[in-house]
Amino acid sequence: MRCRLALLLLALSAAAYARANGADKPDLTLHGEVSGKDHQTYRLIPFDVPAGTTRVTVQFDYDNKTDHTTIDLGLLGPDGFRGQDGFRGWSGGTKRVFTVSATDATPSYLPGAIRPGRWQLLLGLPNVRPDAHTPYDVKVWFGQAGDPAWKPDVLNPPLRTGTAWYRGDLHMHTAHSDGQCNSQSGKRVSCPLFLTVQAAVARHLDFIAITDHNTVSHTNAMRELQPYFDQLLLIPGREITTFTGHANLFGSSEPLDFRVGSKDVPDWTTVARNAAALHGVLSINHAIRPSGEICMGCGWTAKPPIDMRLVQAVEIVNDGDAGSVMSGIPFWEQQLNAGYHVTGIGGSDNHDAGATEARPGSSTIGHPTTAVHAEALSMPAILEGVRAGQVFVDVQGSGDRVLEFSASTMGGEASMGDSLQAKAGAAVRFTLHATHAAGAHAVGVLDGKALPLADGGKLDGDDAHLDFDWTSDGKPHWLRVEVRGADGAPWLYGNPIYVNR
Ligand SMILES: [Zn+2]
Ligand SMILES: [Zn+2]
Repeated sequence: MRCRLALLLLALSAAAYARANGADKPDLTLHGEVSGKDHQTYRLIPFDVPAGTTRVTVQFDYDNKTDHTTIDLGLLGPDGFRGQDGFRGWSGGTKRVFTVSATDATPSYLPGAIRPGRWQLLLGLPNVRPDAHTPYDVKVWFGQAGDPAWKPDVLNPPLRTGTAWYRGDLHMHTAHSDGQCNSQSGKRVSCPLFLTVQAAVARHLDFIAITDHNTVSHTNAMRELQPYFDQLLLIPGREITTFTGHANLFGSSEPLDFRVGSKDVPDWTTVARNAAALHGVLSINHAIRPSGEICMGCGWTAKPPIDMRLVQAVEIVNDGDAGSVMSGIPFWEQQLNAGYHVTGIGGSDNHDAGATEARPGSSTIGHPTTAVHAEALSMPAILEGVRAGQVFVDVQGSGDRVLEFSASTMGGEASMGDSLQAKAGAAVRFTLHATHAAGAHAVGVLDGKALPLADGGKLDGDDAHLDFDWTSDGKPHWLRVEVRGADGAPWLYGNPIYVNR
């Protein structure tokens, strides 16, 4: 009973969330009825797919309780059962919602080009009792080029609602690019995506982004896995991989021309502009790396420089580089000092789902972890949290450490990622909260320079609060905090609060 109540509450809160966030209205609604005479026949429901459509999503509802009617579903493209654009799949009586697009489709359905014209929903009617009259409703959504990966909402309900810190890994590779692991007989083979997902579950992560190099073929595999992994949000990403740098694009499943230096894509700013049209989040990866034969384009050497206004994030921790000469922090701080608001995030860059901490030399999933403060465990909420800078990086992937940082002054409050206005002479109180960091100490960083904290920033106990006061000079600044272990090793990196900018 309690379980059913919990499910009901979950359904209600998901519905309330969808309403508050303006769930997409269907582009087409059709109603009809089947009755006894339709028993063991097939019926076609035609509908027109407009030009420019890139995705067709169907929701089919009927009452199968009252008359014990069963309705099976399939989909036919413009060619009917003939030709290449004809049969698009058959799901029988098991799926109420399904989608087809060029990149991905619900299992039972075939991904492929969406040709405009007359499509048909195929109904199979194995069981309709003689006196039955069963109404049905069909809702259809037509996706457009540039739709983010979480559209339409009906395909992507939040896995959880409620404002919280959600933890994830934003950088990993699978069989869809150069991810490799040991096969059953110990051969190195392309590593199937589900192993990456299972490894993330074992690390108790809330979300992961699959970022295979330049491709989006993993999107189709993720379509199959997400309903089963209903506590781990799967975010389609890709690592735009060029001769002059790598950058992750999160939240889009559409192809993107990555050929920086070509006629069509002369420079990184063109890539970033094209990415912006896909409504994803763009993040520059492992900027500080040598670039050469061993790892072509691994360092960030974009020329002319990318327009940083089109970049939302920078990977400040990649695998185990925190605190090393390859740390992404100096590159990030350069951008912050130049006036850009870019969120520092982390990613394991895992290439082997079977890698463990016990096997050094390969990055492990969830190491580092990026924690995002978001109002739900959903693609739009997590990516909005990243854009907004409500993020800290848990360098060791502890699973339980939290770093919160806020500021207040006369007439304003701010937390990580926010801007605060403070006139010259105004006192600003900064407050840091760190959990599960006993024995560690906090470090303040103001405009890229160390900001001494009282008592060496010592953090007392597993639930430590630390306040410090700062007087504004009325000029633009940014201020962030980090937590370091007794040996000085970085544990947590917080994102900045921006003052007067
Ligand atoms: Zn890379
Ligand atoms: Zn990578």
